[in-house]
Amino acid sequence: MKILVQKFGGTSVATLENMKMVREKVRDGLNRGNKVVAVLSARAGETNHLLALADEWSPAPDRAESDVIVSTGEQVSVGLFTMLLKDAGLSARSVLGWQIPITTDDDFCCARILSINSEMLRKALDEYDVLVVAGFQGCTVDGRVTTLGRGGSDTSAVALASALGSAECEIYTDVEGVFTTDPNICSAARKMNRIAYDEMLELASMGAKVLHIRSVEFAKKYRVPVYVRSTFSDDPGTLVTQEDLSMESVLVSGIAYDKDQARVTLRNVPDVPGMAASVFGPLSEKGILVDMIVQNTSQDGHTDMTFTISRKDLAQTLRIMDEVAAVIGASEVLHDVSVAKVSAIGVGMRNHSGVAARAFAALTQEGINILMISTSEIKITILIQEKYVELAVRILHDTFGLDWDLGC
Ligand code: ADP
Ligand code: ASP
Ligand code: MG
Repeated sequence: MKILVQKFGGTSVATLENMKMVREKVRDGLNRGNKVVAVLSARAGETNHLLALADEWSPAPDRAESDVIVSTGEQVSVGLFTMLLKDAGLSARSVLGWQIPITTDDDFCCARILSINSEMLRKALDEYDVLVVAGFQGCTVDGRVTTLGRGGSDTSAVALASALGSAECEIYTDVEGVFTTDPNICSAARKMNRIAYDEMLELASMGAKVLHIRSVEFAKKYRVPVYVRSTFSDDPGTLVTQEDLSMESVLVSGIAYDKDQARVTLRNVPDVPGMAASVFGPLSEKGILVDMIVQNTSQDGHTDMTFTISRKDLAQTLRIMDEVAAVIGASEVLHDVSVAKVSAIGVGMRNHSGVAARAFAALTQEGINILMISTSEIKITILIQEKYVELAVRILHDTFGLDWDLGC
């Protein structure tokens, strides 16, 4: 039995008309000789609506109960879509995460998949041609509902494809594939025909939300080829796959940006051993991810420490830093939420120097001040004022020759 996993995002299932287009993609999957597992997101805007509802009820929503609420968005989608398939005479049933089960850890709101029982799905596929699976959701070993983090339906799909031994996974969204940068902010963005897992990982982790980062981790680990395509066109899309030599010849292959950033500075931290552990230990205990870190040179035995986090973690981080500052004797905790980061990514950077210098020169020419910098083997990231993000993306896109024509 050939099993094809197709995932459809929020815009694709937002309206009856759009769902009818999704139905045609599923029909096409069947016509290619497959049984189809269609993984659906909540309808566009629904997850935000449900999260807002939880916030209205509680100043600090219980994470486990929040997952019970927010996972219903996907439940509605699969019920509606399965009705549509059945009305068209197709053999289909809906499946929720706990019914499979997709077992996760108990890190509610951003749980990780531990295992998928493919037996239930295989049996169901003996009976039905299409299984419509709710994305984004799983359950703990003791049966509590979890969700996989924002954008997590991509991860549900790739994990199901690997558990079912599918030859590939198709991710249908509202753009025609993975572009050199977000096509919604840069009209000169070009669609890539192929992208290496590692580049896609960096693009996703630096803010390109076209694929959930954990879906790319899964795809890379289990070597699942992923096609990113549009529900609304027949373009072949982008293949996310293993690196090949031709990919290395491109210096920078994409520009990503992330506005979900906040910067925190601890002033006058005593410059003695153990300070970094005292500052970052309590944050990691609370599961707060710290991204860029800069420590200034010491003056009079004191230094400033600056780091970035996601904006949703700011209030909790500030509470923790106030306590830490009192214990270690730092003089002040400052923060700034008007910042954003922009990254240039490319496996070709491994073998070339000077990428950072070119990026800095281009931004300087436009008068954009760089607040922080971090680099890895295949990426350079800068933190700037949020108001310059779109300009910076366009400048870097042009500087590294990614524009498909002049004028972004
Ligand atoms: P879905 O609801 O289908 O999961 P998302 O909104 O999560 O869709 O992801 C698709 C969006 O990702 C696009 O509409 C686009 O604005 C954004 N995006 C950001 N960076 C890129 C990129 N490099 N290539 C394509 N899309 C991108
Ligand atoms: N519905 C969830 C979200 O909006 C998961 C997803 O769409 O992938 O984040
Ligand atoms: Mg998404």
